[in-house]
Amino acid sequence: MTSEEITQHLISKGVKPTANRIIVLRALREANRPMSLKALEMKLLSMDKSSIFRVLSLFLEHEVVHSFEDGRGLLNYELCEHHGPCKHDENHVHFYCESCQRSFCLEDVHVPDVQLPEGFEAHAMSFVVKGVCAECKGK
Ligand SMILES: [Zn+2]
Ligand SMILES: [Zn+2]
Ligand SMILES: [Zn+2]
Repeated sequence: MTSEEITQHLISKGVKPTANRIIVLRALREANRPMSLKALEMKLLSMDKSSIFRVLSLFLEHEVVHSFEDGRGLLNYELCEHHGPCKHDENHVHFYCESCQRSFCLEDVHVPDVQLPEGFEAHAMSFVVKGVCAECKGK
């Protein structure tokens, strides 16, 4: 993704593209999988932690990223795949590898339909499977 594409993507989400925002978006794009705040901090050593956190909070608000709790109870951030407004059809299962401590989006595995009792309304759902990823299993 070029800087121009990143800039356009941020604008499509209603976010003003600043240097820090472009850096964080690029880091998530390059990782190509969900990252925790800690993992982003490790990757973006030149940026101070509160700036990273501020960018992520803004990204969440504008649905540039979505968050979910990984198997450790830590928030992970993943990019919303939609250009422009989020269409909210991203209910896929996440996988947390206990060996390499990475999170994965299992895009093709959908969260099962959950029947809620009368009167309950769901706004978000997260489904995390813990185990060992293919790469670690192959070692
Ligand atoms: Zn989305
Ligand atoms: Zn692994
Ligand atoms: Zn995901």
